[in-house]
Amino acid sequence: MHRMTSTQARHTRRAVLQAAVDAGAECATVGTDLFFREDGEPYIEWQARRAEAVRVCVGCPARAACTELALRDGDGQPTRDDMVRAGLTGPELAALRGRQAVRLAAATAADRDTEGQELDRLVAELRAEAITSPDSARYGTVRSTALRTAAQTDRLRTLAAQIRQIRTARRTRTGWGVAA
Ligand code: SF4
Repeated sequence: MHRMTSTQARHTRRAVLQAAVDAGAECATVGTDLFFREDGEPYIEWQARRAEAVRVCVGCPARAACTELALRDGDGQPTRDDMVRAGLTGPELAALRGRQAVRLAAATAADRDTEGQELDRLVAELRAEAITSPDSARYGTVRSTALRTAAQTDRLRTLAAQIRQIRTARRTRTGWGVAA
């Protein structure tokens, strides 16, 4: 499978990240029990298992996607060393999440995505508008062709400006290099 870099993962929607993990997770072959400390498990035993879990993650082709999902999911607590995800312990994940809080807030907001749905709607409307004849009933039946064409041009410009505005805002918030 294609290995995503951490930079690519940061720029990727949740569904794509999840698909990458589903396709390549090494933990699916070794079992997820390895990655969680059992209740009452002596620290020395967990330490050995934790090291083994980290070793599995280091070789996992889905690690970058898994890391980004773990951060967006809010996995890991600062004072609880009881899990490994993406090769990081709970405290390590919490620390990393704290350092990237602003970016992660924007990324999770983009994942929730009412804005994305609006963007999709505007793009679809722009495409439909672009192939609509200005002589269609949409622009009235009494105006001249020139007036209808001008009205359609205005509409296309308005849609393009709305799309540009949303894309620019999303890129600024998330640091994404490409339009979402
Ligand atoms: S990085 Fe580790 S926890 Fe994440 S999918 Fe791979 S093996 Fe599983």
